[in-house]
Amino acid sequence: MTHVVVIGGGISGLAAAERLASFAGLESGARVTLLESDTRLGGVIQTQRSDGMLLESGPDVILAAKPAGIAMIERLGLADRIRTTRPEAKGSSILERGRLLPIPDGMSGVVPTKVRPFVSTKLLSWPAKIRVGAEYLLPPRAMGGDESVESFIVRRLGREMYERLIEPLMSGIFAGDGSQLSINATFPQLVALEREHRGLVRGMLATRRRQAGSAAPARPTGLVSLENGLGELTGALERRLSSNNNIIIRKTARVQRLTRDSAGAFDATLASGEAVHADAVIFAMPAHAASALARDLDGELARELSEISYASTVTVNIAFRAADVPTPLRGTGYTVPRIQGRPVLACTFVSSKFAGRAPADVALFRAFLGGAGRSEFASRSDDDIVSIVRAELHEVLGVAAEPRLVQINRFERVMAQYNLGHLERVARIDRRVATMPGLALAGNGYRGVGIPDCIASGQRAADAVLAVLAARASVRASVPLPVAS
Ligand SMILES: Cc1cc2nc3c(=O)[nH]c(=O)nc-3n(C[C@H](O)[C@H](O)[C@H](O)COP(=O)(O)OP(=O)(O)OC[C@H]3O[C@@H](n4cnc5c(N)ncnc54)[C@H](O)[C@@H]3O)c2cc1C
Repeated sequence: MTHVVVIGGGISGLAAAERLASFAGLESGARVTLLESDTRLGGVIQTQRSDGMLLESGPDVILAAKPAGIAMIERLGLADRIRTTRPEAKGSSILERGRLLPIPDGMSGVVPTKVRPFVSTKLLSWPAKIRVGAEYLLPPRAMGGDESVESFIVRRLGREMYERLIEPLMSGIFAGDGSQLSINATFPQLVALEREHRGLVRGMLATRRRQAGSAAPARPTGLVSLENGLGELTGALERRLSSNNNIIIRKTARVQRLTRDSAGAFDATLASGEAVHADAVIFAMPAHAASALARDLDGELARELSEISYASTVTVNIAFRAADVPTPLRGTGYTVPRIQGRPVLACTFVSSKFAGRAPADVALFRAFLGGAGRSEFASRSDDDIVSIVRAELHEVLGVAAEPRLVQINRFERVMAQYNLGHLERVARIDRRVATMPGLALAGNGYRGVGIPDCIASGQRAADAVLAVLAARASVRASVPLPVAS
């Protein structure tokens, strides 16, 4: 009986298993086993309830513009559970010399799309604003090749725009260092704008002209969550998979070693010593964890995987009586430019961002610490972390009261950093993987870190494995497994 093993039960592995289940409908007798080392599924997606509050430890939103997330929500029958951010909590701010300055309206990407809010923002000096306007006249870069996010944005829009506005906006996604991140791997759409339209402002204007008059999207837009947080998504996926007799979910099942025999089949050895035989395997975990499992398969693949670096991060949910917060909370929160060297990277005003996350008399915040080059925060003591966050909220929002709730979450080596040369490395990895039919990779280490990207990665990996199994089945002239369309 054909057996596919998915290693890792985060959103990537769950998406892979869901895709396998929908094709492996498994009249042909194939089975899928999902092996997860933890006691729970979901990976970094973790939602809890405490003291009348809904607490997200890891991600809290899905970008609706990337279709894989919303499509999965709809498939699981959760469309009516989608919650958008509160309309009154519009925009967010940047911390500039101790003051919260709103990000100008119309800054959805890196180029301002509305003139008046951009011209009047206090975040930038006049020369910096003029420099952004002058981008229209700059020729595109002559040579190809990779470039850092910092170099690209400074070259096109000027240093002040990068340091004060773009870097904090971008670091919210990667918790990364813009001088190391690859523009080609992180924001290829910007590179395409420069290449195809000779500049970002020109590209933005052309895009707006194209979009003008097109019908409003029927699906939700912006950043969304579910009524009970993102844990509702992974919970629904788990239920869907558990109800399929051909899928076995095993928790506390850490895979320690993986080997491949001369016939191309795999043997996974669990920490318990048990061996699990598989015709195909999907790694759905951070690249460094995949590297450890690839060691006995292909040393070169293991080395390439190990070179994708990961940052650690800490999130702190912290709640106060609303009456103890003297500063009005405008927007969804704020981010902090890296040049300021402050320990807190960003802070979300959770109870302002989403309705129903905390009782009406409570202000719930979520602070982020760590990120690239600052991963040591993950090893700080709880007391240290709480003092840092309380000092931040005191200084920025004037909150001096005792918190009503504190919840600290440490995420070690979970935020993939797409550093310079990332795309070339991923291409080399793909070539090594292709030499082992039946092996496929999913996760946030390769082609996108957001939840929709991870879902798409799991689906791609499942499709690759199904194609190999179908080809093998047709060679054996037995009943073929359907191949994904
Ligand atoms: C704090 C934080 C905030 C974020 N915010 C957002 C956001 O708002 N929106 C967004 O779109 N994205 C966000 N992201 C990114 C996104 O959440 C992640 O990229 C994505 O969830 C990763 O999913 P994954 O399944 O690839 O990996 P993971 O969630 O890391 O899951 C991998 C799983 O594999 C298991 N595993 C590892 N090794 C083994 C082994 N040997 N055997 C068995 N199991 C193993 C692990 O236990 C884990 O459960 C955030 C990430 C973090 C950390």
